[in-house]
Amino acid sequence: FILFSIFVGASLGSFPEIVSQFQAMSGATERIREILDHDIEQGGTRRAELHGALAFENVGFAYASRPDRLVLDGASFEVEAGQRVALVGPSGAGKSTAMSLILGFHRPNEGRVTFDGVDATEFSLGSLRGEMAVVPQEVLLFGGSIRENIEYGRPGATMEEVEAAARDANAHEFISALPEGYETLVGPRGVKISGGQRQRIAIARAVLADPKILLLDEATSALDAESERLVNEALETLMKGRTSVVIAHRLSTVRHADRILVINHGKVAESGTHEELMAQAGTYRFLVETQLS
Ligand code: ADP
Ligand code: MG
Repeated sequence: FILFSIFVGASLGSFPEIVSQFQAMSGATERIREILDHDIEQGGTRRAELHGALAFENVGFAYASRPDRLVLDGASFEVEAGQRVALVGPSGAGKSTAMSLILGFHRPNEGRVTFDGVDATEFSLGSLRGEMAVVPQEVLLFGGSIRENIEYGRPGATMEEVEAAARDANAHEFISALPEGYETLVGPRGVKISGGQRQRIAIARAVLADPKILLLDEATSALDAESERLVNEALETLMKGRTSVVIAHRLSTVRHADRILVINHGKVAESGTHEELMAQAGTYRFLVETQLS
């Protein structure tokens, strides 16, 4: 999960690759080693070439540090290939945990996660992650050029491909306006760019990765109106034709979803469209009235 937070917008390649990137940034830690060992033990051998359907079947999950506390408890849902699903629910409901199970950072203690109807454990984690990209809540760029930060989505991509991805992500214009353009150094010691610009770089990285499944944790911090418009437009382009699972904090996002899943106490409490869920005087309607804006 640490990696999930850090490997912002990256297409998740093989685990050793991710770990070596991480080590390059901040030095190895025991925690990383633990996650890595865990992964090697549990990855299967089948190569994932997905259409993009995914499902939770009665998933029960507790973190190892709190084995008595089920964070997910009988969670079931299906997402069809190409469908856009929004996860909403109160803080602590288990939304981010569900994402980390999709990414294979954790395995269910009960039930199973499937891709195209096949148990996730049958696939090699590297190939499974190659089919997914993540755009996280807070985008951190690694130290390097903007080009390298985008190219990380598909190592070896040409400059033309990087630029095309940046155009799709509404990022080309601001990048070109920087003194060093795509070679501008960003990250902890580089040029400071805004939150909205960082998000668009993460989106460009995901566009370049061209994943079947897109996982998005919507930013909670507000962007200025223009920045938000550019980010939303770029996300629309990115989500088109892909399975997308979005942890949504904004009403506009849930309204555009094919289906909304309300997560509460580790279960799918409600499922339906905005209109369907508003018609039930349940958790969704309460969230809309109190938290989603
Ligand atoms: P949400 O994203 O819906 O706010 P989370 O999935 O982040 O919820 O968290 C669900 C519950 O799991 C919370 O009670 C949280 O404190 C707990 N939790 C999250 N991450 C960890 C972790 N790494 N170890 C132990 N407990 C965790
Ligand atoms: Mg969360």
